[in-house]
Amino acid sequence: MARITLVRGDITQQSVDAVVNAANSSLLGGGGVDGAIHRRGGPQILEECRALRASRYGRGLPTGQAVATTAGRLPARWVIHTVGPVYQASAADPSLLASCYAESLRVADDLGARTVAFPAISAGAYGWPLDGAARVAVEAVCGAVTAVEEVRFVLFDERAYEAFAAQLG
Ligand code: ADP
Repeated sequence: MARITLVRGDITQQSVDAVVNAANSSLLGGGGVDGAIHRRGGPQILEECRALRASRYGRGLPTGQAVATTAGRLPARWVIHTVGPVYQASAADPSLLASCYAESLRVADDLGARTVAFPAISAGAYGWPLDGAARVAVEAVCGAVTAVEEVRFVLFDERAYEAFAAQLG
């Protein structure tokens, strides 16, 4: 099982093998984590995303799945793009959110990545309540069978950090 660490900070500044992007299914960029990764990582990431759209993912990357590209100028080797579910209070099924973590770790294993940084997927623009998002994230990572040695949750603000810390108790 991977060792879990928590840091408060910016995911684009993590020196790890792979950083996970809270992408949208277009793979063509967005706000939040996605915007920061493309801005700091440079155009090479978008180029590879466009190539993925032109080949394997003509209709976009489905929610809950993950795919890797170069990390461009980020201090990482790869970006693993995953698409979190948009929160709907009346139908909040955590399985797709859990799948984002499990699939990202599966892709990390395929790459041979040993250190992986995750943001709080779906907890921003996609509206997932922080406590639930943190619980699903920690449970999914704890339940994953993976050769990844360190999973680092990178939380942007104190509230998110505290929500993840509470789950790790
Ligand atoms: P989603 O669309 O999946 O909700 P967002 O990128 O909007 O993804 O937000 C996910 C979480 O990441 C939020 O808690 C947000 O505050 C946080 N966040 C935004 N920018 C960064 C960043 N540069 N590094 C780490 N976390 C970030």
